[in-house]
Amino acid sequence: MKLFTTDRWMLVRFAAFSFVMVWSSAACFGQPPKNPLDGMRAFRYLEQLCALGPRPSGSAAMQKQQELLREHFEKLGGKVTMQKFRAANPLGGERVPMANMIVEWHPDRKERILLCAHYDTRPLPDRDPNPVQQRFGKFIGANDGGSGTALLMELAHLMPKLEGPVGVDFLLVDGEELVYEEKRDPYLLGSTWFAEQYIRQPPEHKYRWGVVLDMVGDESLQLYQERNSVTWRDTRPLVKEIWATAARLGVDEFIPRARYEVKDDHLPLRNTAKIPTCDIIDFDYPAWHTTMDTPQRCSPTSLAKVGWVVYEWLKGQQAEGAKPQAAGGG
Ligand SMILES: [Zn+2]
Repeated sequence: MKLFTTDRWMLVRFAAFSFVMVWSSAACFGQPPKNPLDGMRAFRYLEQLCALGPRPSGSAAMQKQQELLREHFEKLGGKVTMQKFRAANPLGGERVPMANMIVEWHPDRKERILLCAHYDTRPLPDRDPNPVQQRFGKFIGANDGGSGTALLMELAHLMPKLEGPVGVDFLLVDGEELVYEEKRDPYLLGSTWFAEQYIRQPPEHKYRWGVVLDMVGDESLQLYQERNSVTWRDTRPLVKEIWATAARLGVDEFIPRARYEVKDDHLPLRNTAKIPTCDIIDFDYPAWHTTMDTPQRCSPTSLAKVGWVVYEWLKGQQAEGAKPQAAGGG
């Protein structure tokens, strides 16, 4: 009996000791922050955009998408403006009507951050393995065009309550790829237009940073650092901070190494508008520019993870609100 009693007391002591250890380590390291993004909802937005069909610049589906987005962002309290312009049609004929959509959150804040995604889709799946599809197939652009837009739709839910001195603008650019022929047709029409206007008629506010979100929904997410973004002196600290935020959150899909150099909307934003802008892009996507770029190749988890990193980084920027930043460009 004595032995039993001793054992029981040892057990009780051991249980108490374990409890204290677990409790104190939780108290020391804190609970990991919880992801406030709703991945399923973000994914439903992506499906909703894809249900409109192909959404190339100047199409009826693009117009429907614009209406859908305007309603969505305004309902959540964003201030929506359209920046309209026209661009040459690579196929000839009439110039194509285009519009960038700008969504301002807390427009009174003079220092701001720009989150950018393209919302047009490539006219044709010209890298499809089937040559007939290349010319006549449907390109839905779930990841390429859809994912960045859907993610901004989801992030919009968190924007009204983002406290601090720094405001956020979403920029949905048109004409990122009204491209029928790779070597002939120009890319990045919307971001180029935005950057030129920004220089020609400088607004009262200044953008501290810009972040481009492109192809962020891949179910097998691998976000290497884009080579330009991590090489330019003015954007390197931005890349380091975002990837460090991911590491802190345990989002291992952000891989802190450069892999691809991508010509994306960050080029005109950084080179012309002088807004230090990086590109978050998963360029390793087999369905790229094929009929397979559908919601089935994307995942709610990927959208939620990228959104979480961006959101936590935005929150960190609020804490740094008073710090002046080095001038961009160069
Ligand atoms: Zn593309």
